[in-house]
Amino acid sequence: SSELVLSIQLVPFDTTRKLLLSRDITQLERVQTVHRDFVANVSHELRTPLTVVGGFLETLSEMPQVEDATLRQFLPMMLEQSRRMHSLVEDLLTLSRIENGPRTMLQDRVHMAALLDTMVVEAEGLSQGRHRIVVKNTCPHDLWGNAQELHSAFGNLVSNAVRYTPEGGSIYLRWTQDTEGRVAFTVADTGIGIPREHLPRLTERFYRVDRGRSRGNGGTGLGLAIVKHVLARHHAKLDIQSEPDKGSVFSVIFNAEQVAPND
Ligand code: ADP
Repeated sequence: SSELVLSIQLVPFDTTRKLLLSRDITQLERVQTVHRDFVANVSHELRTPLTVVGGFLETLSEMPQVEDATLRQFLPMMLEQSRRMHSLVEDLLTLSRIENGPRTMLQDRVHMAALLDTMVVEAEGLSQGRHRIVVKNTCPHDLWGNAQELHSAFGNLVSNAVRYTPEGGSIYLRWTQDTEGRVAFTVADTGIGIPREHLPRLTERFYRVDRGRSRGNGGTGLGLAIVKHVLARHHAKLDIQSEPDKGSVFSVIFNAEQVAPND
């Protein structure tokens, strides 16, 4: 919100007079609110799967004898919930590593053709043949940056494209260069799309257009927050174009300074 938060104190100035001190603590208050919300969100996200797993275990332990069929029914559900907790913890660790890492990061030469190939393999692995995956690489250059962080950011965009595109849809991965020397990594899909009013808030932690859908397909709600932090460290920007029921285009645009000239 745009509210101003002031801390006002009346302190003795001399024997007869008092001083009214007013401090603007808006920023401090905002940081504390964000922190409180974050802890509440993480707790909530972990509580649900823990309750489910705990419930199954309790039921099983109360049975005098556990039938094979019962186990076959319960185990996959417990496994799914434990995977969900695992992804959440992994994403939280990635986010904290990026946030608490040194401000000036190592600038490796990141081999973009190889990274693009890795993204194709990841997309195919997640899609399991349910989508058409189309690749275009018309930029011969590498990037200066952190390979692990870029892998993580691009991987989140690819995983979103697969998860929010129904079977039979297409996913396009592109590495291109424009006339001004900027280069872009683009992930486009023909999926469910995003209503315009949600676009400005998508990179906030735990912001989701449709909670049920995101959780149901393995989303932690942290993917685009990770993307945002990684890109900030690479002086890159994220452009999102989307239309409900048509699809989305997520482009990561790097400045010419991040482009590593060919040897
Ligand atoms: P999640 O783990 O929920 O996918 P993200 O931070 O990666 O979290 O994305 C935030 C939200 O943005 C998602 O919950 C989803 O509503 C929306 N979103 C992200 N990528 C896409 C996409 N390619 N198509 C449609 N919606 C998307």
